[in-house]
Amino acid sequence: MKAYTGKVLFVNLTTGDIHAETIPDEVYENYLSGVGLGAYILYQRIPAGADPLGPDNMLGFVSGLLTGTPSLVTGRWMAVFKSPITGGWGDANCGGTFSPAIKQCGYDAIFINGVSPTPVYLFVDSNTAVLKDATSVWDMDADAAEKILQQDNLNKKKPVVALIGPAGVKRSLISGIVNDGGRLAARSGGGAVMGSKNLKAVVLAGVKPIGCHDPAAMKTLSKELSQKMRKFNLPGFVKGGIFPLMGKMMGGMKRALPMDGAMAGILMKRWGTISNNTLGITSGDTPIKNWKGSVVDFNHSYYKHLNPEKILKVEKQKYHCYGCAIGCGGITDIASASSGEFTESHKVEYETCTTFGSLSMNKDLDSILYINELLNRAGMDTIAAGSTVAFALECYENGVITPAMADGLDLSWGNAQSIIALVKKMIARDGIGDVLADGVKTAAAKLGVTGQPYVVTAGGVEPGMHDSRFDPLLAIHFSVDPTPGRHTIGSAQYYDMIHLWEKVSWAPPSGAYLKADEYIPSDKLAVKSVALSCYKELVDGSGGCLFAMMLGVNHWKLFEWLNAATGWQKTPDEYMEIGKRIQTLRQMFTIKHNVDPMSYKISPRMAGVPPLTAGPNKGKTVPIEAMMKLHWKHFGWEEQTGEPTTATKTQLGLDTL
Ligand code: SF4
Repeated sequence: MKAYTGKVLFVNLTTGDIHAETIPDEVYENYLSGVGLGAYILYQRIPAGADPLGPDNMLGFVSGLLTGTPSLVTGRWMAVFKSPITGGWGDANCGGTFSPAIKQCGYDAIFINGVSPTPVYLFVDSNTAVLKDATSVWDMDADAAEKILQQDNLNKKKPVVALIGPAGVKRSLISGIVNDGGRLAARSGGGAVMGSKNLKAVVLAGVKPIGCHDPAAMKTLSKELSQKMRKFNLPGFVKGGIFPLMGKMMGGMKRALPMDGAMAGILMKRWGTISNNTLGITSGDTPIKNWKGSVVDFNHSYYKHLNPEKILKVEKQKYHCYGCAIGCGGITDIASASSGEFTESHKVEYETCTTFGSLSMNKDLDSILYINELLNRAGMDTIAAGSTVAFALECYENGVITPAMADGLDLSWGNAQSIIALVKKMIARDGIGDVLADGVKTAAAKLGVTGQPYVVTAGGVEPGMHDSRFDPLLAIHFSVDPTPGRHTIGSAQYYDMIHLWEKVSWAPPSGAYLKADEYIPSDKLAVKSVALSCYKELVDGSGGCLFAMMLGVNHWKLFEWLNAATGWQKTPDEYMEIGKRIQTLRQMFTIKHNVDPMSYKISPRMAGVPPLTAGPNKGKTVPIEAMMKLHWKHFGWEEQTGEPTTATKTQLGLDTL
């Protein structure tokens, strides 16, 4: 048996046509599944210039190639579409249980185009695929609608649902797609695409088995990882209070030290992403005060309130996505934080703690826990929403948003109650909330401040909460990935932990290098970023999780799992070629839709122009344009424009698409 079904479901909401197509084996061998299969289909089927919120845009729900096999931490799915924010390639990644549910219906992916005349949802099980009326749940929040749709379609199996909340229904450009009670495929604006199609949900209830080529070999690899994960522990007396000190040490070091991904495993298992809450602030990794401040502004009297131990205190149970050996998630009791409005919530992530914490100068943890649940139910991206709030606070400081425009809210930095009220207005598109509901780029245009230093984006997208002035390799990925501002592609820390050089012949070794050298454009730095881009596409084609990727190739054995799952017997170099093909096709999609890759360059403040005058990133500037060009050159793309060369397209077999 193969790890993939070889079948894809196509749904046209305008005509009502629903049909399956068989995908040739060569497609999987060249693109895997997940983001690769998504790019293969969307590049060919979305016409150039299609309106992202119109019938020609196609929204794909794609499982990972390894999802459902005995491999571990490979249960994630990809939403793929033309982004309504950038006009180029868009995707978003999410965990939970939705990815295996796609395969259990007998498909690797479901692609949806057209626009339904009335609100509908798609129901699929092992035998049927039908559109059903969604009028009664259309305006509901994601949590309430998910429960009703599960109840209405209850049979032998409780269905798994991916859906939009009110943010997607109102076509907020920073809305995402929700599954499993508050996990979000948040980025690139996929919720708005789904809302524009009058599609509330995809409800899956299939029970088909998922096969693979060599289950015994896969289980052996999985057992090895499970045993390691059990050993990845810190003594119980080590608490989150040590993170600020660790951060200070990291921020002050002149040289990077050799790293092992086991450290990521230890931190993610115990705390999850919130392990970076205070560590990032003192090291310089965490942006502060809409990227213009530092730990001098958000000092100990502020960041002590974001100590991850305070969040673990309300964690009722651990949460693992499907087939996950790490379990970075948790279910938290937020009754007190929400004044009784909600009982529980998926554990808040570092990114949310930061956009609504240090980025907005807010030290009120309860407000952040409450906002997290508000946004999960609304189906709005917490990175984008919090970044937009921070932008609004700086607009208020500068007199661009006046008290009258703010509907009476005092939008001073760190005013937790005003921030909560503003978020509610954004979800409802009410007053000033309507100005902000589509993110920083649109809000800046509406307020007439495009180009001002406090408009902080990468290609119009609110960046992930890691500081590009702290990590130039991250700055490159923020600027060159076809989903700009994406913090999950690559960084110096990722590179040092993943140890690609131990398996990939051309990946440069890392070690105790001088951090200052990373601020100088170089071929070595560019090859590192190319390697990370290729590897991340493999991860996203397989259904892998970023946090498993960070464990490194000697702990989380992606190459070996892929061979065992498929029987292909490819070398790591051959797999990296697949990653290169996927990434190049994503770039070709963006260019086909007439978007200039140079427009994805991070805004000046993110590159240290002008440099910060205090904190660990004081005086640091990243020569980002030169670094982007070197990355493009080493990818086989035109050095000046970022367009894949004819030779590269031919070499990768992309010239005939
Ligand atoms: S590490 Fe966390 S996000 Fe990743 S699959 Fe496991 S539980 Fe989900």
